[in-house]
Amino acid sequence: MSSITEILHSVPVDPLTGAIAVPVYQTSTFVQEAPGVNKGYDYARTGNPTRAALEKIVAQLEKGDAGFAFATGLAAIDAVVKLFSAGDEIIAVDDIYGGAYRLFTHVYQKLGITVHYVDTTDAENILPFINERTKCIWLESPTNPTLKVSDIRHICALAKTIGALVVVDNTFAGPLAQTPITLGADIVIHSATKYLAGHSDLLAGLVITAKPELSEKIKFIQNATGGILGPWDCFLTIRGIETLELRYLQQSTTALVIAEYLQQHPLVDVVHYPGLASHKNHAIACDQQNGLFGGVVSFSLRDDTQEAAHTFVTQTKYFKLAESLGGVKSLLCHPATMTHASVPRERRLIAGVQDSLIRLSCGIERTEDLIQDIEQALSAISFTKKNLSYANS
Ligand SMILES: *Cc1c(COP(=O)(O)O)cnc(C)c1O
Repeated sequence: MSSITEILHSVPVDPLTGAIAVPVYQTSTFVQEAPGVNKGYDYARTGNPTRAALEKIVAQLEKGDAGFAFATGLAAIDAVVKLFSAGDEIIAVDDIYGGAYRLFTHVYQKLGITVHYVDTTDAENILPFINERTKCIWLESPTNPTLKVSDIRHICALAKTIGALVVVDNTFAGPLAQTPITLGADIVIHSATKYLAGHSDLLAGLVITAKPELSEKIKFIQNATGGILGPWDCFLTIRGIETLELRYLQQSTTALVIAEYLQQHPLVDVVHYPGLASHKNHAIACDQQNGLFGGVVSFSLRDDTQEAAHTFVTQTKYFKLAESLGGVKSLLCHPATMTHASVPRERRLIAGVQDSLIRLSCGIERTEDLIQDIEQALSAISFTKKNLSYANS
C-alpha cells in the first residue's frame, strides 16, 4: 500500500520545464501531427493532463484501479447512476445526501430506476428489498448529519452473493480514514468540494473504480456525457490533497476534543461523533475507519427548539453559518431549517434530526479558540430563561 507521500510523488515533475507544481493545461484541444497521431491527448473532454494527474492521485488514495474527476459531487453521482438501466433497482442508505435523494427521486425515477431506502446500520434491513432487479447497494458511512456508520465489509459480502455492485459515497470519512474498495466496494464517490479540495473555494466530484471493467464504463460515461472538472479546479484539488493529511489530522483531533467537551456540557443533550465510545456504531467505526473520525460533530440541545439552535448558530464567531464541510475554516449549520428543511418534521425526527440539532464542521483553527467560541455561544443560550435551570443543574 502506498503512503500519501509516495502517491503525491507518483506524479512526475513537468517533463518540459521541471515545474514542481502540476501545470494547468488550460486548453480545449491538442494539435495532432497527422490525423490520429498525438501525444496521448486529442480533445480536453476526453482527457487533459492536469485532470489526468488528479485522477491518478485519487485512484491511488482510494486503492482503486482508476479515478475520474467531475464538475461536482452530484455530477460524479449522476455518472455512476448512468451505469444502470430502466427496471433496475438500487437499495440505498436511508439518510443519504439530500442531493442524491433529489436526483434519484426527481430525475431517475421517471426514467425507470427505483430506489429503496433502508437503515443500513443493520444489514438485516436490506434483505427484504432484494430481488432479481437489485443491481446496486448505495452507502454513505458516516452519514449526514447524525454520523451513522454501516458495516461496509459485511454489506459488500452480502452484495457479492446477489451480484449487486456496492457504491460508497466516502465524502464524510475521506480516504485517509477509510478506503471502501479494500472493504469490498466496487465504486467510491467523493464530493471533493469537502475534505479533498479542503478550502471551501471550489466544487468537484470524483469517482474511483475498483476494477478495469468498471473503469472502462465510467470513462465512457464521463466522455459521453461531459460533466468533467476543468483544469484550474483540478490543479486546486491536487493542491488541496497535498495538505490533506495535515488538515485531516488536525480536524479529527479538534472534533474529538469538541465532542468530549459538548458531551459533559449541561445545556447539551445528545452528541453524535463516531470517535466517542458512546456512539452506537463506535466499534465498527473503529474497525473500518483507521482510528480517524473526521471533523464533523453534531449535537442537540436540552432546550430542543429551533429558537435555541438559532441563538447558538448566530452567536459563534469562528464557526461560520454555512452549508458544506471539510474546509480549513470552521462552519456550522442547523439541518432542520437548512439542509433538511424540505424533509417533513416526523421523518426528520425518526432520522434523529431533532429541532435543535446543530452540525459543526471543524476547520484547522486552534482547538482552544474553537472551544472558546462554542463556550461563549452556549452561554448566550443559557441566558434565556428556560436554560438557566439546565445551566445551574
Ligand atoms: C456535498 C456532498 C455531495 C454533493 O457534492 P457537490 O460537490 O456539492 O455536488 C454528495 N455527497 C455527500 C455526502 C456530500 O456531503
